[in-house]
Amino acid sequence: MTQRTLVLLKPDAVKRGQAGEIIRRIEAKGYALVALELRSATPEVLAEHYAEHEGKPFYQPLVDFMLSGPVVAIVLEGERCIEGFRSLAGATDPTVAAPGTIRGDLGRDWGLKVQQNLVHGSDSPESAEREIGIWFPGL
Ligand code: ADP
Ligand code: MG
Repeated sequence: MTQRTLVLLKPDAVKRGQAGEIIRRIEAKGYALVALELRSATPEVLAEHYAEHEGKPFYQPLVDFMLSGPVVAIVLEGERCIEGFRSLAGATDPTVAAPGTIRGDLGRDWGLKVQQNLVHGSDSPESAEREIGIWFPGL
């Protein structure tokens, strides 16, 4: 059951110099990197990417945060990599994400900002294909 998933290293990961460490963990797990690019997100791309969260209280702070610096957009491939990457990433709130996970080991609450949790990973095969189409049209 080979899958593809969209991973984003969020601006906090890039600013804090953790991109290499996160990519190392992905490679160590054994997923293939099929696309990888340093990018500046745009409001248009983020409106599509986070459409499911529109209207929630954290939506605008999340979008502003995602525009605060470059992100690394990645497509991974491997058996059950959607579930596998989310397991590597850990729980959404980095304060309580389990040690051993990306968010649990490298993240914390810096005051106010739960959205600063280092990574995004698609949550289903449908969202993975949708999100890959947004970030890497034609891939
Ligand atoms: P995940 O990234 O774990 O799939 P969600 O899809 O629920 O989490 O949320 C998308 C992103 O929105 C999260 O990664 C996080 O950056 C941000 N977010 C989610 N919940 C909150 C919240 N309560 N306060 C601030 N930011 C949040
Ligand atoms: Mg999500």
